[in-house]
Parts: sequence; structure tokens; C-alpha cells
Amino acid sequence: MNIIQDKLNFRTMKPLSLHPLLIVLGITLFTNPLVAQPTRALWGFEATGAFGGTPQETVAALHELGANAVFSNKLSPELLRALQAANIKVYTTVNVFGDHTLWKRYPHLRPMTSEGELLAPEQGHGLCPTQRWYWPRVLRALGQRLDAGYDGVWLDFIRFSGFWEEARPKLERTCFCDSTLADFSRTTGIAFPAELPPASLNASADSTHARDWDNAAKAAWILANHRSAWRSYTSNVIADFVRQAKETLVKKNANATLGLFVVPWQRDEFNAAILEVLSQDYRKLREHADVFSPMLYHELCSREVEWIARFVEYTARETSKPVWPIIQSDLGKEHRVSDDTFAAAVLSALDPPSQGVIIFNHKALLEAKQTRILGSLWSAKRN
Ligand SMILES: [Zn+2]
Repeated sequence: MNIIQDKLNFRTMKPLSLHPLLIVLGITLFTNPLVAQPTRALWGFEATGAFGGTPQETVAALHELGANAVFSNKLSPELLRALQAANIKVYTTVNVFGDHTLWKRYPHLRPMTSEGELLAPEQGHGLCPTQRWYWPRVLRALGQRLDAGYDGVWLDFIRFSGFWEEARPKLERTCFCDSTLADFSRTTGIAFPAELPPASLNASADSTHARDWDNAAKAAWILANHRSAWRSYTSNVIADFVRQAKETLVKKNANATLGLFVVPWQRDEFNAAILEVLSQDYRKLREHADVFSPMLYHELCSREVEWIARFVEYTARETSKPVWPIIQSDLGKEHRVSDDTFAAAVLSALDPPSQGVIIFNHKALLEAKQTRILGSLWSAKRN
């Protein structure tokens, strides 16, 4: 009796209610010997429960599932080596500009809006990316992960602030702090006029908040007169970080992979917010990244599963790089994804030109008991 198999309950699972066409599609995808094996990864992987036990048992459980990669930040050296010996790639994630808990210790890292207000402590609000004194700290963390033996690093929150995981995102432009304004001026050679018209507030702005009127006036002047230079400047800052990340990575291990978790907005959506607000320009980032992973959480973004395949195709066209989308499983009572929809999402994510799929996330997958569905789609290829 294979203990792992029993733990995963594959033998005793209930019949799947998948559409027959999905099954055929899945088998076709995984059985063509001419097609390179797509990456099949779990994000947030932990060697616990059905995936726990000895390293050999963990390997067996992942093989049983049909996974050939995991994303984790906390694996023992022994397990990491055992996974790699079994041809399971081990990747890790580094949060670049997303940790707003650092505002307390480093107030300069808190972004300022175009209204001259400090950014509210809300989800999706992170750090001011132009504070380059902070960068070595992240690059060091990245280097340490490679020293620990990971096969690659994915950069998360590699952008300016903004909460995007919803149907109609509320977006505020940042960052117009003193440091960023000075850096913009220095980098572009654009000098602020000695006298600027006073900033007028947007109707939505709350006039009771503390406000830096000088910075708000400068922001208004930039957005009225130098919007394209501003857009270019901010997206260059992000691209420059990715360039440095790639250099750090190559110095440690020339074979390591640099991936990016990118926001799933096309250039013309939401008034070009991917460029104007988040400053994440795929066309600049493709120079330095090896793999693009658009975060195609269809339910969070109120989209159909077909959007996943369409966006993968868009990303491949924009970047000419391998695309491994990350998709969601059922995430609990606020974010239900039915079993059939999850199966359809997995297959949509693997539609060519996709070269893999990452499941967000391992814990939720286990809680929603969607492992068996994933296993039936992924393990069709196992010989
Ligand atoms: Zn700033």
C-alpha cells in the first residue's frame, strides 16, 4: 500500500463531474511527446499534511499529483535537495515594494499621492520604489535565497502602489514624495518652475487630511505638462530594479530563473493604469526577466476563465518570454471557485503559448479539497 497515495485519497475519490471535452483537452496537452513539459507548480507549498513526512514521502506526494515545481520560502535544505534530485524545481518569491509594515520604521518609504497626502495603510499600498537606499536590502534577500539553493526567484509587488485584485480598482497615483520629485527632476533634467499655481483638490480628496501643498502643486504641474516623461521615469525605476535583480541572480547562479508576478492589465485598460499608476511596463521588464507570471485570479477580478488564456497570449506577445500564469483555486467562502470552474481555469492557463501554470495557493487548494481535480488534470501525463 502506498501510504502517500492513500493520504491523497486518489483511489477513493468521487467521480469527477468534468466536462468530457476538458478531459480530452487535458490529455492532449500532456501526452504530445513533441511538446515540452509545462511547469506545474504549487505556490505557497508547505511540506505538511498529505505532503509531509520524510523528504521521500513529500516527493512521492508531489509526483502523485503530477507537480514538477513548487514555490516556497521555507523548505529545509534536506527537502530542497530531495525535491531537486527528483526533478522537482524549487522556486521562491521575494516581495519587493509591497511591505507597508516598514513605514513605521522607515517613514520615508511611505508613498505620497498626487494630492500631497501620505498613502493610506490599505491593501495594495506598499513602498516608495525610488528610495534606492532600500534596494540592497531586497537584493541581499534575493541573493540569500540563491545561496540556499533555490532554482529561481519570482519578484512580487514589482511596481508602484495600487490595489488591483477587484473588478473596478480605485487607483491613486503615487509617488510624489520629496525624494521622488527630486530624483525625477535630476533624472529627466526637468526643473520645476520657481512659482507654481496652487494645487486644487480632486472632488474625491478629503480636505481634512494633512497635506503637503507644495508637493501637490508639483504633482499637478508634472501631470499637466510632463506626463509622458513621468510615466517613462517611473517605469524605468521599476525596470532598473529588475535589471539589478537579474545581475544579482546571475552572479550567484547563471542557471537560476528570474520570474515576475505581474498585474494582469493590458496597456489600454483602466486608462492605461498599468503604466500610469503601477508603472509596470512589460516591454521594459522583458529585457531582464526570464519568465512572466501574470496573476490571473479570474474570480477576484470578476472575469471568465477564458480571460486566462487570452491574457497569457497577450503577455507572450508583449514580452516574447515564457509565460507561466498563476491562477486561483477556491479561496474560501468569500471567493468561491467551483470544482468545474477550477478545472476549466487550469486548462485555460495551459493553453498555448502558455508554458506552465502556478496554483495560488497550496493551503487553499487543500482546504477546498481541489487537489484531486488538479491531480486528474496534471497526472494525465505521468508515465
Ligand atoms: Zn516617493
